[in-house]
Amino acid sequence: MPWFGMDIGGTLSKLVYFEPKDMMQGESESEIEILKSIRKYLTKNSSYGKTGHRDTHLQMDNVVLRGIVGTLHFIRFPTSKMKNFLVLANQKGMAKLVTTVCATGGGAYKFEEDFKREVNMKLAKYDEFESLLKGLLYIDKNNPTECYYWSNPTDGTKCSKVQYDFSSPYPFLLVNIGSGVSILSVNSATECKRVSGTSLGGGTFLGLCCLLTGCNSFEEAIGLAAEGDHTHVDKLVKDIYGGDYAKFGLPGDLVASSFGQMNSRDRRSKVSRQDLARATLVTITNNIGSIARMCAIQQKVERVVFIGNFLRVNPIAMKLLAYAMEYWSNASMKALFLEHEGYFGAVGCLLQYHG
Ligand code: ADP
Repeated sequence: MPWFGMDIGGTLSKLVYFEPKDMMQGESESEIEILKSIRKYLTKNSSYGKTGHRDTHLQMDNVVLRGIVGTLHFIRFPTSKMKNFLVLANQKGMAKLVTTVCATGGGAYKFEEDFKREVNMKLAKYDEFESLLKGLLYIDKNNPTECYYWSNPTDGTKCSKVQYDFSSPYPFLLVNIGSGVSILSVNSATECKRVSGTSLGGGTFLGLCCLLTGCNSFEEAIGLAAEGDHTHVDKLVKDIYGGDYAKFGLPGDLVASSFGQMNSRDRRSKVSRQDLARATLVTITNNIGSIARMCAIQQKVERVVFIGNFLRVNPIAMKLLAYAMEYWSNASMKALFLEHEGYFGAVGCLLQYHG
């Protein structure tokens, strides 16, 4: 039985490890020793090599997977470091086990041969969107505090996370913000279709931010953005009209042109790296929000669930999305978020295995 589910994405590989409470029957002595040492390595550490991390705050204990009680662990590493991951897996004795790993995401195809050659692992491949939905429903069912929304998203003192009961969710829109963005319309536990998407996603934010500010990581980009002011970079309605554009209900503080001030040499000389990072974040996030809103109108849905690792440690983007969805729909639409934001695909493919 494989205890690993993997979602090998364009930027990050997500690895979900199910640790059964009791050791399994039916494995050979030597396999059990290897399994024990792998289990110990994974659960006693929270970082692996230079770039692997376990998100300990997301760990889920006492969940039942295919009738077995255990703990779910959530691990991520950059897909660009796949070679290092395979070397490490080999060192830990993986190649000596006859294992199948459940996998989804583009990398399940791209790296299939490498898994076979380097660690003797077969990949059981599953559809990305089906896995996403199955994983999401499973995690939500097993975690009462999974789903939430942001109340008063623009008010720094009143803004807070509020739990949301997601037990009767249909229909809803699922906006997965990874390297790129996919938008799915979900009508039941088994019915979902991809209705739209955009290539301007989390990868674009990070790529542009690195170019514009010289930063080198997502965490650094978010840290810079938190301290910046996008109005030094963008052209607002009031920069053009001197105030609100009342006739069309456009407030003066609305961005009329993203990066619209940056044609001026004088303005350019005054912006900080922080301002540029913030403007990039606002530009990408608002664009996704507005595409999501149009899809929600077209699909006639009121609940829009945003997931994907772009939202990791990124309350600025979540609050922007929450505000934009509410404001532009006259409060008829709600932006919802999920705690295990980037891990649903990896969980979902693990759930689908029938060995
Ligand atoms: P994918 O499956 O395409 O890799 P993810 O849902 O894993 O998509 O999201 C990838 C995006 O998450 C990146 O483009 C970036 O915006 C953001 N991100 C969050 N944390 C990190 C990180 N540690 N390293 C790189 N990107 C990160």
